[in-house]
Amino acid sequence: MEATRIPLVAGNWKMNFDHLEATYFVQKLTWLLRDAHFDYTRCEVALMPSFTSLRSVQVLVEADKLRIRYGAQSVSVTTQGAFTGDVSADMLARLGCSYVIVGHSERRKYHPEDDANIVDQVRAVLAAGMRPILCVGESFEERRQGIELEFAVGQVRDVTRDLSDTQASQLIIAYEPVWAIGTGMVATPQTAQDAAQAFRDELRESFGAQVADSVRILYGGSVTSGNASQLIEQKDVDGFLIGGASLDVEELSRIARLTVKKTR
Ligand code: PEP
Repeated sequence: MEATRIPLVAGNWKMNFDHLEATYFVQKLTWLLRDAHFDYTRCEVALMPSFTSLRSVQVLVEADKLRIRYGAQSVSVTTQGAFTGDVSADMLARLGCSYVIVGHSERRKYHPEDDANIVDQVRAVLAAGMRPILCVGESFEERRQGIELEFAVGQVRDVTRDLSDTQASQLIIAYEPVWAIGTGMVATPQTAQDAAQAFRDELRESFGAQVADSVRILYGGSVTSGNASQLIEQKDVDGFLIGGASLDVEELSRIARLTVKKTR
């Protein structure tokens, strides 16, 4: 792994925790990590609360100078205007967000988010100075047909096609096979590595070695402290996007402590 790719552990809270619970969680997580002498230079930790909790998390992080980062789970593709219920990228940037999850399979399934919309979200996030965490991954059906890599690489290609090298270098890609999300069926370390390597090869072909070597590629899907060590040992896996296990503060702190690269 390149020395510049600091692993990232990102907790996707989905529609869980109100702002009071979020505040308490952030405090407890940072206490646990401090007590464990956690080295933030070796692993970045980020939380993705609901929109309604972002301001509370921002106030806490800024007041206590905490080293965790945070972001949002989705974003509008428009900048302002008559779009009831939407939240713009600039609003998120003003709240101190570093990241925005884009294209999560639950957004693709429950909202009309197709590839074109996802491209626009990526652009909106980048234009506001944040980094998109682009989620891709095959369903069980594509895996059954043996076209899982082709499918997931195709998703990366479709979204990144018109980005500049500079824009592409800001991306984080999360390989999230849909069959592994919330099911307890984690991908094998080799499966995660194969996908991450295929994405990096695709980036190398489109944007060159410098971009390919700098983009962090996460694995997501039933990650726990029981499987994180083996997954992070894989050369091209640079951390995790975590759903269920990110709701348990002790478990998330364990995963963060396990997510260091031995080669550094
Ligand atoms: C997710 O929803 O992004 C996710 C990876 O969920 P889980 O960890 O619960 O599988």
